[in-house]
Amino acid sequence: MCDNPFTFQQPSSLGGNSGGSSLSVKISPKDQLKPKGLKGISDQQLEYHFETHYKGYVGKINEIWDRMQTVDRSKANQNFSDYRALKVEESFNYMGVVLHELYFENIKDGKGTSPNARLMEHLNKNFGSFDKWKEDFKACGIALRGWAVLVYDLTNGKLINNGLDAHNMYGLLNTIPLLVLDVYEHAYYTDQGPKRPPYIDAFFENVNWDVVNKRLDAALKARP
Ligand code: FE
Repeated sequence: MCDNPFTFQQPSSLGGNSGGSSLSVKISPKDQLKPKGLKGISDQQLEYHFETHYKGYVGKINEIWDRMQTVDRSKANQNFSDYRALKVEESFNYMGVVLHELYFENIKDGKGTSPNARLMEHLNKNFGSFDKWKEDFKACGIALRGWAVLVYDLTNGKLINNGLDAHNMYGLLNTIPLLVLDVYEHAYYTDQGPKRPPYIDAFFENVNWDVVNKRLDAALKARP
């Protein structure tokens, strides 16, 4: 799993509209998560994805958090306001960071790994079999525009394939992501052009199941 990415910096000055926020929280890209030498997903494809798209979200969320130091909260308005724009784009860009880190981590160095007995038991219980889960996860990745995410639902203890049209659209709350698949065109166009299904097949060839097994263990412990 990843180290804590957060570093804390004192802002140089606090404006009158800082709204009680006294710290600027910055994050750095996690270069150690960049995969290489995958089956069916080229290094060039991963290079564009990691360096341009993922790092773009890291840069923008830091910029948003900086602006939140001084935005005028007294002018907050649901139709349009600077504060509203920052909150909307915070959810898009921060989830862009989080989902990409989970995605890269769960396809890096996966050779020789497999789902453990506990994960298989949960997949069988919730989907009937591993193959039925996989068929549904692939359909989810084709039907949605952004992400397919296998999640553990803390409310009812279920596994669900959650489809997202964007980083911040249709994500189920009170769940823990176990396996994350990026299906934005930028994830496969360099290799596959418009053909998404073979990219999803290549994704399955590279999953690091050790990472997924550990995420499930942590999720099970998190449920009261
Ligand atoms: Fe992406």
